[in-house]
Amino acid sequence: MSDKSFIMDMTDEQWAEWTRERGFPRFRADQINGWLVKGVFDPREMSNLPQSIVAELENSFAPDSFVLEKESVSQIDGTRKYVFRLGDGNRIETVLMKYRFGNSVCISSQAGCKMGCSFCASAHAGFGRDLSAGEMLAQVLLPGKLTNERVSRVVVMGIGEPFDNYTNLISFIDRINAPKGLNLGARHITVSTCGLVPQMIEFMCVDKQVNLSVSLHAANDALRTRLMPVNRTNQLDPLIRTCREYTRKTGRRITFEYALLDGINDTREDARQLAALLRGINGHINLIAANEFPGGQYHRSRPEVVQAFREELESLGMNVTVRREMGSDIMAACGQLRRGLADNNPVEYTTEDVGENGEI
Ligand code: SF4
Repeated sequence: MSDKSFIMDMTDEQWAEWTRERGFPRFRADQINGWLVKGVFDPREMSNLPQSIVAELENSFAPDSFVLEKESVSQIDGTRKYVFRLGDGNRIETVLMKYRFGNSVCISSQAGCKMGCSFCASAHAGFGRDLSAGEMLAQVLLPGKLTNERVSRVVVMGIGEPFDNYTNLISFIDRINAPKGLNLGARHITVSTCGLVPQMIEFMCVDKQVNLSVSLHAANDALRTRLMPVNRTNQLDPLIRTCREYTRKTGRRITFEYALLDGINDTREDARQLAALLRGINGHINLIAANEFPGGQYHRSRPEVVQAFREELESLGMNVTVRREMGSDIMAACGQLRRGLADNNPVEYTTEDVGENGEI
């Protein structure tokens, strides 16, 4: 394992400093940045740089910090799933989905996750570490380079809890927004949280137009704590109060995710509780057919149950969508592909995706 850093972790200011310290002209910093934004991380591919700068870059940055280990392509809808190996051996996964409006990429924010949701494959795989802003950015840039297509939306809902890696998340958003970066508007970015209230309060004070998605999965504390241990310290009452405040303060709608688990949270009474909980909030509910994975304890609800749940919510005046499934022939639910590789025992994959409006 190299102790050198990842080339994508350098900011514009740091590149200016890096070139100045080494006596290279300032425009070389812009040239390097120009390659990085195209997803070119290997200095030997930066063809407009003199050999002296290429050598200095090779000397300063680790070549194996972000390596494509596996790519799977859906024969059904063209969805692509990537597993990247990081410099310290951790693996992360990224999904690229094709829609009529353009390409959307779903990135990981951590290697593994601490939150321990009982229905989630990532939780079963344990926690490695936080990802740097550069490692998050690379997950957006590299699929663009590999497919030679532009990424127009980013969803932070792969492995990890983004608000548990708050500082790097904000830095990532700043860099992806930057005119010299990918120049992707904040409205084209969605962050999904399991509901970390202190960070949500902090986030609502950051002047960004990023979309927020909150994973609920249950409408009462007893069940939510059973499914999501984070609910012990971030209970529904403060969480929903914060959501109301968030929509009031930012003027932005929240998407509430609800994965339907067979016989656990999918009755009409559960739907009525959910409607009562969210009544009056500027938001919409996104129902998800839960992912099943080897060793998991839950099954997804049957399609007729999902439909009945949706109808109950609609009859109560709620705004509801059901998430469309993509890449079901090749994909893992969050964490499964990485886990399959780590075990050297690949699993059969199913996947979930992002709605056409960026909601998840
Ligand atoms: S659902 Fe999200 S927050 Fe919960 S364990 Fe999985 S990755 Fe972490």
